[in-house]
Amino acid sequence: MLDLFYDDTHRALRDSAAAWVDRHIAPHAAAWEEAGWFPEDLHRAAGDAGLLGVTCPEALGGAGGDVFHGLIVAEALIGGGSVGVAMGLGSHAIALPPILALGSAEQQARFVPPVLSGDKVAALAITEPAAGSDVAGIRTRAVRDGDSYVINGAKTFITSGLRADLVTVAVRTGGDPDDPKRRHEGISLVVVEKGTPGFHTGRALAKMGWWASDTAELFFEDCRVPADNLLGGEGMGFVGIMANFVGERLLLAASAVATARLALDDTLAFVGQRRAFGRPLHGFQVTRHRLAEMAGREAAARAFVSTVAERARRGEDVAADVAMAKNIAAEACAYVCDAAVQLHGGMGYMRECRVERLFRDQRLYAIGGGTTEIMNEVIWRRGLEPIV
Ligand SMILES: Cc1cc2nc3c(=O)[nH]c(=O)nc-3n(C[C@H](O)[C@H](O)[C@H](O)COP(=O)(O)OP(=O)(O)OC[C@H]3O[C@@H](n4cnc5c(N)ncnc54)[C@H](O)[C@@H]3O)c2cc1C
Repeated sequence: MLDLFYDDTHRALRDSAAAWVDRHIAPHAAAWEEAGWFPEDLHRAAGDAGLLGVTCPEALGGAGGDVFHGLIVAEALIGGGSVGVAMGLGSHAIALPPILALGSAEQQARFVPPVLSGDKVAALAITEPAAGSDVAGIRTRAVRDGDSYVINGAKTFITSGLRADLVTVAVRTGGDPDDPKRRHEGISLVVVEKGTPGFHTGRALAKMGWWASDTAELFFEDCRVPADNLLGGEGMGFVGIMANFVGERLLLAASAVATARLALDDTLAFVGQRRAFGRPLHGFQVTRHRLAEMAGREAAARAFVSTVAERARRGEDVAADVAMAKNIAAEACAYVCDAAVQLHGGMGYMRECRVERLFRDQRLYAIGGGTTEIMNEVIWRRGLEPIV
């Protein structure tokens, strides 16, 4: 992000996080991507380095930092060269906010510290086979039975779903997805722990990018969880889900900017070293102009995302702005990665070339955490409709 908004703690974190990533991720990124996996003990190493809880309360093992501390870690992780590792290692960043927003002191003390230390992995499960953007369409049901909830249903596309020790799951404790008047009612969040009878993971889903992260289907068959694992009360799910909106979209926007920067840097190095027609590629004006366009779009996205983050830090309502930030950053990243492949020529199409991977990985920025179209809906409803 723009260091314009940084204090000394941000600059120190930027440097220490980059050094940790250079040592623990960068040398292995390509191999882990090809393997479609990264070692579980990386979570503990990141926890030991204090990278998992920079924005979480100190009382729970975090560092009590602000939004920029979180974005700095996200950017540093992308700098390791594997968006999949960054997203897999960062799945707790969307799983924990609902626990922090809705959970009791006892639930927070039980679930949060082991995740921040890297001893446990956390995931968030909202999306279902028949309901993604349309969260009110979820059908996974949790029925109260004594001091338990019995859950039946399925989730899909869940980041870290296979390795997660605890999953923050959106369930329906009431309402009806088929009744337009009642479909927003009765959405609740419950924490389901690995090993709970009736909780199964499916296959690792093969995907276009983010190969090193696991993306899984989850199944609940008469899965009985203690009623104590319900976050907030029944029907409080949307409050918990909304707790993620600003943070998750800013994290994805910052990750998109960082991905664009990586693709631009790789391309700048390549055009200086690769020669054609007796000169380096940057000897052609058309190449220089394309690089200028790439740099401009990355810089504009970085500036806008940083400004929205600063306004979020000041406590302003940035719902519409953060949706714009995510769309603008995703679009800038798509442009830069596409141009990066083009300027690498045939090498840009080779698996050994990092921009080939970044080109695949960036595609999800316009889909995950709310699609471009859903962001535009938010921009209309929260930013434009109130003033027309
Ligand atoms: C690699 C990966 C990791 C993921 N990780 C997680 C995770 O950890 N946890 C989790 O819960 N989910 C996760 N997701 C799911 C992700 O959040 C959803 O894929 C995303 O929200 C879109 O939902 P969908 O796939 O059901 O698409 P759909 O909602 O079916 O959308 C399909 C198309 O219709 C458009 N559309 C839908 N509604 C409207 C509308 N009202 N107006 C205009 N257009 C519309 C969409 O924009 C899109 O273009 C992940 C997905 C992927 C691919």
